[in-house]
Amino acid sequence: VSGRARAIAVIAPSWDQGRWARRLAALDPDRPVAVAPSPEAEGAAYAAVWMPPAGALTAMTNLELILNLGAGVDHLLADPALPDVPIVRQVGPDLGQRMAEHVALHALIHLRGHLGFAAQQAGRVWRPLAGPRADQVTVGIMGYGAMGRACAEKLAAIGFRLAGWTRTPQADPLAELFAGEGELEAFLARTEILVCLLPATPQTRGLLDARLFARLKRDGRFGAPALIAAGRGATQVEADILACLDDGTLAAASLDVFETEPLPASSPLWGHPRVAITPHCAADSHPDELAAGVIGQIAAFERGGADALRHVVDRALGY
Ligand code: NAP
Repeated sequence: VSGRARAIAVIAPSWDQGRWARRLAALDPDRPVAVAPSPEAEGAAYAAVWMPPAGALTAMTNLELILNLGAGVDHLLADPALPDVPIVRQVGPDLGQRMAEHVALHALIHLRGHLGFAAQQAGRVWRPLAGPRADQVTVGIMGYGAMGRACAEKLAAIGFRLAGWTRTPQADPLAELFAGEGELEAFLARTEILVCLLPATPQTRGLLDARLFARLKRDGRFGAPALIAAGRGATQVEADILACLDDGTLAAASLDVFETEPLPASSPLWGHPRVAITPHCAADSHPDELAAGVIGQIAAFERGGADALRHVVDRALGY
């Protein structure tokens, strides 16, 4: 629409949409910003979204670009009627820092046996527990992408030994990297604290099961391995996590993501003494930090087209 900036529709019904819209409008005052559902939003060229209702994007006949307001795109790609326009996702230091804080905290919780001390405190028990140092323990990061690398920096600073697992072969000075099904065994055989930051795709669904946990390293100073899951719940089998905690295959688990969210009140994970639960907030999206990047992507797209976009989602790969 010449002469008038193409509008942005904000479609994030589970979030404070108004706050995102106000922030985007403040950063790009000449551009109309509308909150969905509304006729203005339906006519917009750009959709800034988090878990949009199925069909909401199909109704946008002028749609040119989808800007996902989080890092994961599995819910978006699950929409069979998703319009065929480029999709960009959130990648950057803000989300990376938040995820790294979460993962470093939980790696230290397991290194220092903190869930055991919490149980002792509840019973007023004074009993020191001695464990290894960080440099005697290997953290293995499944999904060594933007999030995984951000975590590796903090974990390396603490002193942990690091391994990573990716789909395609790569190298990194911070971690010993393994790729694909063929190198999964070697990755698991040295991993004592398993951090899962994989996206949910058809290939990663249900990957974290009892068979996989049984292949983790358990003969080192750390003993039985611990799990930190903060990617997507679809990659894990929770019945297997519980069974492995109970038979000693896993020592403890920190879970931020679940097969069903919110985690049902009936889940036995809630009351398990060796499970730490957070409600999918390891790396939340905040409009004050991320709106400028959304505006930047739109500006790049208007200058240089789809080739100028960054962090474009590969629909065929699912991430
Ligand atoms: P990313 O940069 O795309 O990294 C994904 C990593 O997973 C890459 O290393 C990729 O390998 C690897 N991977 C994908 N499919 C694989 C497969 N089949 N086998 C082995 N490795 C595979 O994504 P990111 O920004 O780091 O985010 C990762 C995920 O974290 C998101 O998809 C989202 O689900 C989750 N997340 C959670 C929260 C939270 O609050 N809990 C917040 C943000 C994100 P290649 O490097 O070879 O491509």
